[in-house]
Amino acid sequence: MSKKGILYILSAPSGAGKTSLVKSLVSDLPFIRVSVSHTTRPMRPGEEDGVNYHFTARDRFQEMINQGEFLEFAEVFGNFYGTSQAWVQDTLAEGYDLILEIDWQGAQQIRRLMPEAKSIFILPPSQAALRERLQNRGQDNSDVIENRMRQAVSEMSHYVEFDYLIINDNFNQALDELKAIFTANQLVLNKQQSQHTELLRELLKPQ
Ligand code: GDP
Ligand code: ADP
Ligand code: 5GP
Repeated sequence: MSKKGILYILSAPSGAGKTSLVKSLVSDLPFIRVSVSHTTRPMRPGEEDGVNYHFTARDRFQEMINQGEFLEFAEVFGNFYGTSQAWVQDTLAEGYDLILEIDWQGAQQIRRLMPEAKSIFILPPSQAALRERLQNRGQDNSDVIENRMRQAVSEMSHYVEFDYLIINDNFNQALDELKAIFTANQLVLNKQQSQHTELLRELLKPQ
């Protein structure tokens, strides 16, 4: 019986609340791992190398592309972002469920490679709320924010390609909805069979 973990793709326009939701989710659901992407974008205040991202120089990133080290990669807002192939395969093989926080281009690549992946899209309650969140986050300058807002509409148009859709208006409600997806997927038959092998053997023993 396969113990392979479930792969989740989580996408959203920048500022929709993806990072905050995932952070709360994994503190409540310990069986989930989150992939740490490689990126060529500069580190924001408060970010840590190896925790938020593996911050990588452009020439090193190119080298990694050439060596086939990425499961997927994409250029987003003028920087490269990519997911490590080895880490994802190893973590799934160990039986952990795994979240990739990636953009729609990366989501398309992963779906082609691993059609069994479950994908979730997060939307803000309005364009005005999205702009306000990017401003309140206080980590990007106004040029970066305007650029992200300009791209938000075309990013959001990809929501139709995803299995699940969450509107992050009230944070706690969005978090509950996200948890419901992960919890329901834990309960599918083959997951439960590998989780409760002993119990199932015991229950079906002839009296
Ligand atoms: P934030 O999402 O606003 O916090 O900004 P980031 O700079 O952290 O991410 C910008 C975009 O890059 C987001 O849309 C992410 O989903 C996307 N992204 C992050 N890591 C990856 C990755 O490994 N692969 C791909 N394809 N996209 C990524
Ligand atoms: P992303 O990772 O999608 O770019 P973040 O998680 O960094 O988004 O969230 C962007 C900003 O919006 C953060 O400052 C966060 O605190 C705030 N935020 C997230 N969810 C909500 C919400 N439901 N209501 C109001 N603000 C929110
Ligand atoms: P953290 O997970 O680091 O505590 O939260 C990251 C950001 O998400 C913080 O800036 C915090 O204000 C925001 N956040 C967390 N929970 C809520 C919530 O319930 N409502 C709102 N509006 N923002 C939240």
